[in-house]
Amino acid sequence: MLSERRMENSGTRHGKRAWFRELGAELAVLHEPWPLLVAFLGLLVLLVPTAAWQTVRWSERQAYEQLAAQGRDRLTLYGEMLHSELEKSRNIPVVLSSDHQVIDLLAGPGLIRDNERIAALDRRLQELNAEVGASAIYVLDTTGLTIAASNWAEGVGSFVGQRFDFRPYFLAAVHGRPGSYFALGMTSNRPGHYLAMPVSSGGRVLGAVVVKTSMDHLERGWSGGAERVFVTDRFGIVFVTNIPAWRFRSLEPLGPDAIRALKASRQYGDEPLPPLGLVPGSPLTSVDGRAYVMVSQPLSDGDGWTLHVLMQVGEARARARDLGLLAVAGVGLTALILYFFIHRGRMQRRHTRELEERVTERTAALVEKQDELVQAAKLAALGQMSAGMAHEINQPLAAIRSYADNGKTLMDMGRHDLARENLGEIAALTERMGRITGQLKLFARKSSRSAEPVALAAVVDGALALMFGRLRADGVELDWEPPDDALLVRGEEVRLQQVLVNLLRNAADAMRDQDERRLSVRVAADGRQVRLIVRDNGPGIAPDVLPRLFDPFFTTKQAGDGLGLGLSISEGIVRDLDGQLTAANHPDGGAVFTITLSRAEVA
Ligand code: ADP
Repeated sequence: MLSERRMENSGTRHGKRAWFRELGAELAVLHEPWPLLVAFLGLLVLLVPTAAWQTVRWSERQAYEQLAAQGRDRLTLYGEMLHSELEKSRNIPVVLSSDHQVIDLLAGPGLIRDNERIAALDRRLQELNAEVGASAIYVLDTTGLTIAASNWAEGVGSFVGQRFDFRPYFLAAVHGRPGSYFALGMTSNRPGHYLAMPVSSGGRVLGAVVVKTSMDHLERGWSGGAERVFVTDRFGIVFVTNIPAWRFRSLEPLGPDAIRALKASRQYGDEPLPPLGLVPGSPLTSVDGRAYVMVSQPLSDGDGWTLHVLMQVGEARARARDLGLLAVAGVGLTALILYFFIHRGRMQRRHTRELEERVTERTAALVEKQDELVQAAKLAALGQMSAGMAHEINQPLAAIRSYADNGKTLMDMGRHDLARENLGEIAALTERMGRITGQLKLFARKSSRSAEPVALAAVVDGALALMFGRLRADGVELDWEPPDDALLVRGEEVRLQQVLVNLLRNAADAMRDQDERRLSVRVAADGRQVRLIVRDNGPGIAPDVLPRLFDPFFTTKQAGDGLGLGLSISEGIVRDLDGQLTAANHPDGGAVFTITLSRAEVA
């Protein structure tokens, strides 16, 4: 059913609709419990997710590596920017720490300071601050009290009179070391970097000069990039960043020691310092539900500072997922195409097999039918022939009857010689009748289809022996070159002789009116076939006779001379032996009959 429908479909393929119909038919077989289909589906189920997963993983890894490389470039750039920002004001405390105006002021008698000198220094610091673009420049005494400041004129915002003795940069400076520190301004509440230098004279520390640098400018510079940049201090707290919301957040929750130290220095005032949940060192990290590739680098500036760059992976991930989808589609499509090719091949093979089986079945049925038909035809012919037989046999019968009646009378009369003659006639007539019935018996016989190796020379010799009387009586000149006795054909000796006798008799009949009668019997053998050729010098076969020559009851002979069965029976016998009987006219006149048989090997 299915295969027929498919064949129909492929036969009437018209454009897209037909294609879809065919695809439908293809898909209709998908529900068959089919090992190939199951194997394919299994393969698809295994292969597609694996391919997708691998592709996504691979392209993600590639993307992350690329992002990390970009991030490392950015690290260098942002590190440089930070360094140069700090560098701008780095020399100011160095220069001021050896400035006479500062030293003289700090070296002056403790509480009774010269207001004019302080005011002069205030103005100088103010000018200097404006010049270098720092946040503030100020001078502290050994108690951490601000003596002079660039922002002296800002009223509430002024550092003058403020005490910064708890700040680590001050503590470093009064101990004769430069101090560097990032913190939230106590007065200004603005973050900045504090750089302090001790002011000494005669080996004694008199105080400190401090410059506070705002990171606003730097952060503005960083905010231009797509990536997130931040610097953490030794506690892991973000203090410079291009994401304002991340400022004063710690990478990880702070330990009790860190909290204590921060409280003491009031570095970040009262900021709650909530953790960001970022783990430094891990290549892929997420903050606020977004994933990043994180690269970090310790900085030479500051104490335990680390610069971090976060590269957003959203786009890279999406690209990787797209690639994964593409891989799924690719693998799926390839598998589907492969499946359809194999499926089509199988279907075609199945159709071929079915067709072959049908052809074999039908051939067998046909052969059977043909045998039946031949047999039926023979029997039908027999029926038809019965009518002819009545005519054929009635005549000799009537003659026998009258010869017998006459014979009785002649015997009564004592004419035994004449009566004997009559009996002789009766014998001749019965012989003729016997011949007719004998042929009929042969005709009705169903072939046994058994062929065996037969020596062709023996067949011809036997047939010639049977025909010897007739041929000699007719004065036929015989040309017969017997082949090697070893030349065997596949056949039946008696039946082949029968065929040959028939051909010889027909030839003799045909040559009846010739002055000279020549008959040649030749054997031509090639690789696998052997031909026996009987040629006479009679009138040959008329063109209108030729196509009907092998039809039963076809005869050109007088009634009583021939029944028209000889060639039809002969042809049937030869065909039964898997051979062929053909008739033709020789170009030099006369008829040529050829029996072609297969060569037989000696068993
Ligand atoms: P029949 O001999 O009884 O006529 P056949 O079937 O043997 O029946 O022959 C059919 C016809 O074929 C013959 O009547 C004759 O016309 C023709 N025929 C057969 N052999 C020859 C031959 N050698 N030369 C010419 N015609 C022939």
